[in-house]
Amino acid sequence: MFSERISRLQGSLVREILAIAQQPEMISFAGGLPAPEAMPKVDFTGMPDSLSQYGPSEGEAWLREAIAAEMSRIGVPAKPDNVLVLTGSQQGLDLAAKLFVDQGTPVMVEAPTFLAAVQCFSLFGAKFVEVGLTPNGPDLVQMEQLLERERPRFAYLIPTFQNPAGFCYDAATRTRIAELFDRYDVVLLEDEPYRELAYDECDRQPICSQLKSAPWIHFGTFSKTAVPGMRVAYLVADQRLMPYLYKLKQAADLHTSRQGQWAMHKLLTSPDYPAHLERLRGFYKVKRDAMAESLDRHFHDLADWVVPPGGLFFWLKLKREADTYAMLPKALERKVAFMPGQPFYATPRISNELRLNFSNASLERIEEGVRILAEVIRKELG
Ligand code: PMP
Repeated sequence: MFSERISRLQGSLVREILAIAQQPEMISFAGGLPAPEAMPKVDFTGMPDSLSQYGPSEGEAWLREAIAAEMSRIGVPAKPDNVLVLTGSQQGLDLAAKLFVDQGTPVMVEAPTFLAAVQCFSLFGAKFVEVGLTPNGPDLVQMEQLLERERPRFAYLIPTFQNPAGFCYDAATRTRIAELFDRYDVVLLEDEPYRELAYDECDRQPICSQLKSAPWIHFGTFSKTAVPGMRVAYLVADQRLMPYLYKLKQAADLHTSRQGQWAMHKLLTSPDYPAHLERLRGFYKVKRDAMAESLDRHFHDLADWVVPPGGLFFWLKLKREADTYAMLPKALERKVAFMPGQPFYATPRISNELRLNFSNASLERIEEGVRILAEVIRKELG
């Protein structure tokens, strides 16, 4: 009855854990949920009735113009014609998979990487080529060997405040990756949902802006800076890819909600937008610092981590071999939710790592949750 592809369909563990983590008494470090109190108010006053009609598949001209201007500001050479408005950047991953992936197509991802990207690429039959990640970015020696040997069709990278690891690639790594991708003619999929959530200085020059010949797609979203429920995001791509992406978007959903685009355009072009981003960074930095202090207090002998310079996550590696996935039910019993490391790897493995989100819990609950989690893990390690 079903397509052949359905045999490759996987559920998302995060969405299952998130459902449990929604219980009010639960302290949740599991999701990547922005804090509701940090979200701007969505204001539909003045929205023209004409937007109730069907609209263009590529997105509204005024939003594409504003996004192209924003991209040029961060160094990405883009005209409105290079912009496609998306229903979430997750949709962009789906369109890219449809464009590039057949059964067995080699696809490079970071280890660890964003698990919903793995879910999406596997559906189309991707064969994963995993490159190890350090706090400065991918292991470049290994990356070059894999490019040479496996010839991946594209590489999916999250260079700035990576999900799940929180790392930010340094400038030299970004430049070197651009050189390698030009040399091996690998398509770059650069996913940047967290780039505005910077708390410390670090290099954020988009890698796509340094490419000379390799094709590229750069994804951005309003989910982390504004409201994820609106489902408005965008891609900016190399002109050579645009006709394909445009038709794929048409076939997927005709176009993204025009009302959502209008509200996000209003926000993006409002004189208060830079101040909103500044407040957001301030708000999350306090939480990041609170979690860093709690971890120092309760985890110093249990795990290693680097304090993330931006984004929404800490990535902890236990000092001993262990399976954090097996520890999750014990933590949930004590009303603390976290994401075990295992599902963030494209090829299954036991992991002694865990991802902790700090944006959603209150400061008191961050301390309490980290303390309880340390107790649970200490007991499990025996
Ligand atoms: N990419 C990454 C790396 C993410 O972490 C997320 C959200 N968790 C997304 C894409 C999806 O974002 P959107 O809401 O725009 O679909």
